[in-house]
Amino acid sequence: MTEETDTKKELALHGGKPVRSQLLPYGRQFITDEDINAVCEVLRSNWLTTGPKIDEFESLFAQAVGSKYAVAVSSGTAALHLALIAGDIGPGDEVITSPITFVATANCICYQGATPVFVDVEPDTLNIDPAKIEEAITPRTRAIIAVDYAGHPCDLEPIMALCKKHSLLLIQDSAHALGAHYQGKPVGSLADVTAFSLHPVKHITTGEGGMATTNNEELAQRLKRFRNHGLTSDHRQRQKSGAWHYDMEELGYNYRLTELNGTLGISQLEKLPKLVARRQEIVAQYESAFSKITEIDLPICRTDCNSSWHLYVPQLNLDQLTADRDLIFQAMRAENIGANVHYAPVPWFSYYQKRGYQKGNWPVAETAFQRILSLPLWPGMNTDDVQDVARALEKVISAFKK
Ligand SMILES: *Cc1c(COP(=O)(O)O)cnc(C)c1O
Repeated sequence: MTEETDTKKELALHGGKPVRSQLLPYGRQFITDEDINAVCEVLRSNWLTTGPKIDEFESLFAQAVGSKYAVAVSSGTAALHLALIAGDIGPGDEVITSPITFVATANCICYQGATPVFVDVEPDTLNIDPAKIEEAITPRTRAIIAVDYAGHPCDLEPIMALCKKHSLLLIQDSAHALGAHYQGKPVGSLADVTAFSLHPVKHITTGEGGMATTNNEELAQRLKRFRNHGLTSDHRQRQKSGAWHYDMEELGYNYRLTELNGTLGISQLEKLPKLVARRQEIVAQYESAFSKITEIDLPICRTDCNSSWHLYVPQLNLDQLTADRDLIFQAMRAENIGANVHYAPVPWFSYYQKRGYQKGNWPVAETAFQRILSLPLWPGMNTDDVQDVARALEKVISAFKK
């Protein structure tokens, strides 16, 4: 028997013993007893939905990201949608965004009857390529949604210059990047509106939830109004003033966040610096464990950025391997390592294909898609978990190396 078939036989995929007995997920919330107690306490209070805890969460969040205003909403998707509504984006408008993102980024553009225009990404960060944006701008272009893929801020300086030159609204989808910095400034303080997600796999969670931050007072007021059906006053303002009257000038939604979520958010936000530091620590451990595996390229962080590492996504050097990404994904899953793929290019999904997007228009994104494999990364992972991932990846790569 050759050495190669030997290492292949040891793979759990082929009946060998898996590296772990239980699946290590790719992401997971980090909840403490303080979080739980805080939520129980609010259940005994007078306010269950958008009330004083939401006010407090918003002001602490704004402080944490260095923005003037923060508006809490029911999801990251709602934050993105409200940003477009607040920016008055509608039918006939075009919005430029990245193909390498969660579908929600582009879906929000469709909610408004506008057209997503996908611009290819840079090969190192997989963030939208500023050098390719201008050729996609038309007289109908109204906004750019730049995505901070995996927690690495997009290259905002040239993007902001383009927005200024063409009078475009800049929305930053920072669902991955709470706690990250660009040129020393926190993500959330830079774009016209920044959208964050508070889903359980993100840096901090409220169960479901989101936050939109801005330095623009008018945008902040519009975000708040459209979060509450478009009403000109909310029930607390009416209670204070003793009046029943309100008006609705424009159509809004119910995108409010409850006090239960807000209380959990306050408690989680306190831990944000520690949670980000723990992610960075795990990444450093991965970097030293993987430094000798030449069959993969490790994710980078540019010198003018500080990534908050939502995802850890090496890229496979497929010309050095006998397996494709999907087989390596399956082999890792068989070892009980919750590998994942973030993301298939958004215009490749059936809905977008039906809308007429043609494959092949985003060669950098589409090539990267064949190579990317997300490895588990969350603050509650311990050193044994990190070593399990390293052992499994070495095992799988050595079984499939050319
Ligand atoms: C998670 C995520 C969203 C959506 O956030 P939800 O809170 O799940 O609605 C949007 N964009 C990106 C890039 C995300 O990862």
